[in-house]
Amino acid sequence: MNVYQRIFEYTPDALLLIDQAGHITLANAQAEALFGYDRNELVGQPIEILVPPRFAQHHVRHRAGFMAEAHSRQMGAAVELFAQMKHGDELPVDIMLSPMIVDGHPFTLCVVRDITERKAAEDKLRQQTAELQKLHAELKELASHDGLTGLYNWRAFYEHAGQLLKTAHRRQESTTLLMLDLDHFKQINDRFGHAEGDRVLQAVASTLRITARENDIVARHGGEEFVVAAIGLTEAEGLVAAERLRAAIAGIETMKTPITASIGVATLAPQAQKYEAPRVLAELLDRADQALYAAKHNGRNQVCHFNRLVQPGYQAVPARP
Ligand code: GH3
Ligand code: MG
Ligand code: MG
Repeated sequence: MNVYQRIFEYTPDALLLIDQAGHITLANAQAEALFGYDRNELVGQPIEILVPPRFAQHHVRHRAGFMAEAHSRQMGAAVELFAQMKHGDELPVDIMLSPMIVDGHPFTLCVVRDITERKAAEDKLRQQTAELQKLHAELKELASHDGLTGLYNWRAFYEHAGQLLKTAHRRQESTTLLMLDLDHFKQINDRFGHAEGDRVLQAVASTLRITARENDIVARHGGEEFVVAAIGLTEAEGLVAAERLRAAIAGIETMKTPITASIGVATLAPQAQKYEAPRVLAELLDRADQALYAAKHNGRNQVCHFNRLVQPGYQAVPARP
């Protein structure tokens, strides 16, 4: 064996020399080991002997095209390639093709590399990445949403309401904050059990989501308290919106007992001056909470606006019969 034959024979990749008709004319030791054939079983056979039957037809066409316009083809091309071994199994492979002329005749040197391990590692990495992305999405959802009702939690509310205040300031619009608290909710738990209490919270949450406007921020503030932030409502419109939510909750008919809520409303008129959103938000929440307290004090199942609270002789808006 001369040095070139030795190089061909002992190259760590499987090497095949293919003639223009697509027949194998040479195969090295690695090719024998990789495909499970003796080389005398390979030499003289069409290269499609090493192509899985489902790709064979396509391969014949592809090969004719390649021969007509021969060019080098690098390893690691994007397509997934498979080789067929003698005993029937398929093998993921990378293939490099290199056209050459031998004694005036065109041939193709075909270098085949087994990529089973690399592919398994890539598949595992892809699977792990997908699992991590799913976990990340779940964690993000958990961090910003309440597990029972699916509404924003308090943390997410603070973030989104802060943004809403900034938008309102930029557009010179008002901001309205509604604080809702279910009436005598403890009694529902006591009479019908905690599970029914949870069902009530879920029903109220979906009622709020359906009844509120699309751009309103609806959140579970904790326990049986909810908050809604809305942009662009006057004091009177804020009261109307709150009344609509109150009526929707009172209209829930699928629970074991009627549900009612008291609602406190606070409105921030458009502000000419720049302000710190967190401080203003805290103040608005405090005002809505005071209004809510008044609504409870005045008999529950009603809406109360902070601005009317401070006027002498104020009476909370009574519930419609
Ligand atoms: P009020 O009309 O004055 O608001 O009375 P209330 O009974 O609604 O208010 P209170 O604060 O006395 O009770 C709230 C109850 O809400 C107590 C608590 O056990 C219950 N609660 C808080 N979180 C949950 C929850 O996630 N699920 C259930 N089922 N109950 C909860
Ligand atoms: Mg409460
Ligand atoms: Mg309550």
